[in-house]
Amino acid sequence: MAKKADRVLVTLACPDCKERTYHSERTSATTRDRLSLQKFCPRCRKHTEHRETRALRWPRALHGRP
Ligand SMILES: [Zn+2]
Repeated sequence: MAKKADRVLVTLACPDCKERTYHSERTSATTRDRLSLQKFCPRCRKHTEHRETRALRWPRALHGRP
């Protein structure tokens, strides 16, 4: 059985238009660096380096945002 506590929800935002385009998840235990991925932004219509903007634990994300 996998431990859900290790998983965090991250939001990836485009640096140009600030659009939060993608959601992803990663394990906090193994990765300490901020996530940054080349993603296609539909608003900018190009690939930009999306950055991780926040990391939420799954339980809090499921129960509503602060
Ligand atoms: Zn964009």
